[in-house]
Amino acid sequence: MTEETVRFGLLCSMFEAMLRDRTAAKKRKRLRTFLDVAYTGREYFSAVRLILPGLDRERGTYGLKESALANALVDALGISKDSDDARKLVNWRKGGARAGANAGNFSLVAAEVLQRRQGMASGGMTIKELNDALDRLASCENRGDKAAILSDLIKKTNPVEMKWILMIILKELKLGISEKSIFHEFHPDAEDLFNVTCDLKLVCDKLKDPSQRHKRQDIDVGKAVRPQLAMRVSNASTAWKKLHGKNVVVECKFDGDRIQIHKNGGEIHFFSRNFLDHTEYSHGMSGVILQNVLADRCILDGEMLVWDTAAQRFAEFGSNQEIAKAAREGLESDRQLCYIVFDILYAGDTSVIHQSLTERQALLQKVVKPLKGRLEILVPNGGLNDIRSAGVPCWSIIGHTLDDVEKFFKQTVENRDEGVVLKDLGSKWEPGDRSGKWLKLKPDYIHAGADLDALIIGGYFGSGRHGGEVAQFLVGLAERSDSGYPKRFVSFCRVGTGLSDEELDALVSKLKPYFRKNEYPKKVPHFYEVTNSSKERPDVWIDSPDKSVILSITSDIRTIKSEVFAAPYSLRFPRIQRVRYDKPWHECLDVQSFVDLVNTSNGN
Ligand code: ATP
Repeated sequence: MTEETVRFGLLCSMFEAMLRDRTAAKKRKRLRTFLDVAYTGREYFSAVRLILPGLDRERGTYGLKESALANALVDALGISKDSDDARKLVNWRKGGARAGANAGNFSLVAAEVLQRRQGMASGGMTIKELNDALDRLASCENRGDKAAILSDLIKKTNPVEMKWILMIILKELKLGISEKSIFHEFHPDAEDLFNVTCDLKLVCDKLKDPSQRHKRQDIDVGKAVRPQLAMRVSNASTAWKKLHGKNVVVECKFDGDRIQIHKNGGEIHFFSRNFLDHTEYSHGMSGVILQNVLADRCILDGEMLVWDTAAQRFAEFGSNQEIAKAAREGLESDRQLCYIVFDILYAGDTSVIHQSLTERQALLQKVVKPLKGRLEILVPNGGLNDIRSAGVPCWSIIGHTLDDVEKFFKQTVENRDEGVVLKDLGSKWEPGDRSGKWLKLKPDYIHAGADLDALIIGGYFGSGRHGGEVAQFLVGLAERSDSGYPKRFVSFCRVGTGLSDEELDALVSKLKPYFRKNEYPKKVPHFYEVTNSSKERPDVWIDSPDKSVILSITSDIRTIKSEVFAAPYSLRFPRIQRVRYDKPWHECLDVQSFVDLVNTSNGN
């Protein structure tokens, strides 16, 4: 059998069998059999990239998350947008009009739809053909082309195969076997080699024979390294006990993008945690790196943030891309990209990850010349000296006692930082490790199972196909009133995702008669309380709260202390779960109950 003849259906049978297997050992055995029997002697990469799609960096991204994939599938199947099946796909979280058991799992919802529309016989597509089609899917830009490729795939597969293709596109197979086990079954050195190269093809090409051990490879400039990670601990004393007897540094946990900078002469890469090279940072950062990083070849580890020169503090999470874009377009702004280097992994002609953190920090101070608010180094009681937010004496301390840790943690929380990271100063930097050499301590978790019901108080116009129409909402929480219905609403967060186009249209049409344009001079209706932040100037206000609608909102389980909105906390990554036409406006959650919810879930 040549490379070209192994059918994708064979891989799907392995996937299906793995889902039935109860133990990791059985799943691993299936993989071994597949590799030894079906794939022996072949280019393993072509199959392994389909088994670990999240690690494949050979083809670009598809630009297809669930909602875009739903629309592309509706086009590919040629079904009406109003049909039950189209709704089912677009509303996959709820599973369509009649919520099915598959709701919330896009690929299963899609498989249900496909079962009614696709022939049951496999078209015999080979793994090679699938990889070629996926290459085309990743390289085409427009929706029509993507739909045409999906349509072709639908013709050549059966619903089970198509379900797995969708999972591959979404880069998560949910096989119930860890990436670690897959690597270990493939080759005992596979994980190690992947961690220092982030190159799945290289791993598959080099490690064909599990009985041949591979000489441990060190990191190199230009190849992303899997970042060292932090283990979560629930409180300072647990952290302190875990690091008992060690020299400990306690650092502020900055809330930005983890970025590894590789400098090789004039060539600079900005690798993110998932090994993508974020070239968009080069406009704002390359000049500074070239001038202020004194080693010709090096790898730096740190966090990319935005420093607000006017407010003299770091901007809230999420503005990196916008500022990178502004830098590319040469726009003037009070905000600028700022890279905080907290580690160095390579300098000159050698890797330094085997040295202790103390030694690496000393090296860091020699190699990086800080530039205020642009390039900063994080070392105990030093570095970042020029940029301090009020109330934060420094960003990193040596922890001599538990009390030191607690005090520092409290300070960072008060400063609305994300928390702290404790590190063993004697430890080496280990690719992909989360075993506890770094510990993270964070505040502000809410584990509220319940969705939060907030009232729409304003709207923002969308762009693109939503241009000129309201596409996002400013929502508020009620201020408790002793007598009857609430009289004021406090702004809480801005939310735009979660609704299908039809749901959004219906909601906007219902609210339209009550939109009041927020025209100059801008005045906030007296029944709303907002801060002075420009984020809180929607394009339209809702004329009177009793005409408005409640939205159930979910978010990342984390709340953030809010400076932008009038409520004391806001949500991170909010999304609309449901439009509550059934709930009267005055039953919206009130601020105090929300704060109580945050406090109880934080264990206060
Ligand atoms: P989280 O959502 O808590 O950031 P995570 O899974 O993204 O978790 P973890 O390894 O658990 O990442 O936490 C470490 C992350 O914290 C790093 O990836 C980095 O982005 C960020 N970070 C911020 N400041 C520091 C710091 N001083 N030292 C190490 N990591 C830091």
